[in-house]
Amino acid sequence: MTMPSPERPKFEAFVERHSRLLLTTHVNPDGDGLGSEVAMALWLESRGKSVRILNDSPVPTPFRFLVDMHAIEEFTPESADRAMAESDGLIVLDTSNRQRIGRLAPLLDQHILPIAVVDHHVSHADGFGQVNVIEPEASATGEIVYHMIRDAGGEVTREMAEALYVALVTDTGSFRYSNTDSHAHRMAAELLVHGIDPPKIHAQVSAHASPGRLRFFGEVLSRLEMIDDGRIVVMEATPEQFQRHGLTGSDTEGLVDMPRTISGVDVVALFSEVEPGKVKVSLRSNGRVAIDSVVTRLGGGGHPHAAGALLRATRAEARARVLPELGRLVGAGVASGAGRSA
Ligand code: AMP
Ligand code: MN
Ligand code: MN
Repeated sequence: MTMPSPERPKFEAFVERHSRLLLTTHVNPDGDGLGSEVAMALWLESRGKSVRILNDSPVPTPFRFLVDMHAIEEFTPESADRAMAESDGLIVLDTSNRQRIGRLAPLLDQHILPIAVVDHHVSHADGFGQVNVIEPEASATGEIVYHMIRDAGGEVTREMAEALYVALVTDTGSFRYSNTDSHAHRMAAELLVHGIDPPKIHAQVSAHASPGRLRFFGEVLSRLEMIDDGRIVVMEATPEQFQRHGLTGSDTEGLVDMPRTISGVDVVALFSEVEPGKVKVSLRSNGRVAIDSVVTRLGGGGHPHAAGALLRATRAEARARVLPELGRLVGAGVASGAGRSA
């Protein structure tokens, strides 16, 4: 956090004006989306607001412990419709792209619900809310939430600190990615003062490997390809592999990061054909080149060093749309700009 959004006062006014708030985040939610929701919910409740959290996709196993701090409702068309009807404001966390809230997006056409967006992505920098607190410098949305709580004079409880730590740790890859800066470390240090137990949180977040998931990782990793003089790693996962191991798109979390440790690698590209004709593209840069433009062109988005897209295509078609452009970027050595990651 170096540049607070000029819309932060508007967010504060938004909270003041509304009393029944619905919180949501992007499809296939991660630790930042979920941690930010839970911390925000606890803070708003401490201010006397009634708060619900409802997302398009279920809470992945590694983050289930967050549900002990605040309920996260399952999406059904009826539950979402009811939640919107019963709320007087919507707060969207960790995405500023309307499509990314999944099946909640079309419901917004039927409910007149004022929206506030809190996010750190660059790809839809205008946001789609009446209020848009978008701070691309923040290493996690949780960092923005943390600063808003503190600036409003709110008390950071141990539970809020835990949820915010989850957000920070997951989006910085445990302080390894290029978005890790002095602000991220300072926030971590401050959260520790609130009595959190980092080893316990790390264990909760990472102790979720199933044998099937690791075998799947092994299969995909064993066939990784090195192209463009070893600067780009390409991996593919097939619908058959997802089915045989009983996995979904969100189970690839972490896989694309593994080949980043190969010496000399600039970019990793993972093409996950989750079901026939539906490919989830995940891109990671080790910091030398910015890769988000490659997927923004294709309707996806993300950060300069961690981005993705969902394509209606075969793996071969998806590769053809992505790899030539990536090759051009690593060849040209395009400057990476202000580095941000997941
Ligand atoms: P992933 O590779 O799925 O872990 O995603 C990395 C980052 O890219 C996420 O933090 C998102 O910001 C972004 N991203 C992934 N998929 C999409 C998508 N379909 N549309 C927009 N942004 C995406
Ligand atoms: Mn996220
Ligand atoms: Mn994030």
